[in-house]
Amino acid sequence: MSATLYYSGLAVDRVARRRGDLTWVGDLLADPETAVIPMWRDQSLVAGGVPVRARQELAADLGAAGAEPVLLGLYGGHGVFAIDLSEHSERDAIDLAGADAVADTRSLVATLGPEECGLLAYARGILHWHRNQRFCGACGGSTEVREAGHLRRCSSCTKLLFPRIEPAVIMLVELPGNPNRCLLGRHRGSGPDRFSTLAGFVEIGESLEDAVRREVFEEAGVRVDTVVYQGSQAWPFPAGIMLGFRARAVSPEIDVDNAELLDARWFSAVELRARMADPAAGGPYRVDSIGRFLVENWLADNG
Ligand SMILES: [Zn+2]
Repeated sequence: MSATLYYSGLAVDRVARRRGDLTWVGDLLADPETAVIPMWRDQSLVAGGVPVRARQELAADLGAAGAEPVLLGLYGGHGVFAIDLSEHSERDAIDLAGADAVADTRSLVATLGPEECGLLAYARGILHWHRNQRFCGACGGSTEVREAGHLRRCSSCTKLLFPRIEPAVIMLVELPGNPNRCLLGRHRGSGPDRFSTLAGFVEIGESLEDAVRREVFEEAGVRVDTVVYQGSQAWPFPAGIMLGFRARAVSPEIDVDNAELLDARWFSAVELRARMADPAAGGPYRVDSIGRFLVENWLADNG
């Protein structure tokens, strides 16, 4: 394993045992060393291109107006909260946060390290969840924040709502041979010569391995047998986790679905290295994608 997996391995202490202690959480929020990450409608607030870390005064001001900061945890020994400014206009959110612009969180990976990006992604994901769970799915009652933002409870029927993550599998399919080759597909909506790993959501009633086998057959018409786990990546864009696998094909026949996939081909390591070095052939994968991690690990094993 060589490539870095972004949004993973975050060195934050999530203090799960203390989230329910309102006094402790309140004291932490009032601590001058505590930082607050403001977000606006899934976007980061930046000043000079750098994400803003507001002081706790922002949380106190907004708290008085009804906003509820979410405790991300302790980072470097200090409290870190996230706060959602989505109720405000873009201009007001920028002013409140002391920022000068909003920015797509993933666009910041080029200038920030994996740790900082991981913290922003965590903030983005949990605030997105809150915005979409304000009402109970069972009775329609309004829900209230508990556990410093890691639980919501229906004020009517008391149903508990926990932050929800949607699992997706992403897989590099290998065809054994001399040389080994791997399957990449051209997805609907991507560039004319842009090939990448296959992926799809896990459905109810199937294991991760079932999902890998089903997705590869549905999209590319390729049967696989062995499925080996490679690693996972938090993907709060908005609510996913990507589970990476390497799968072994049992035959080279391809039959793309022409729905999600428009084309799929087998590539040798030599061909794939040439493509990754050539921007005209789609260029390298984004630095923060687990697809890149899967491809680079496969290339390392097929040097
Ligand atoms: Zn309810």
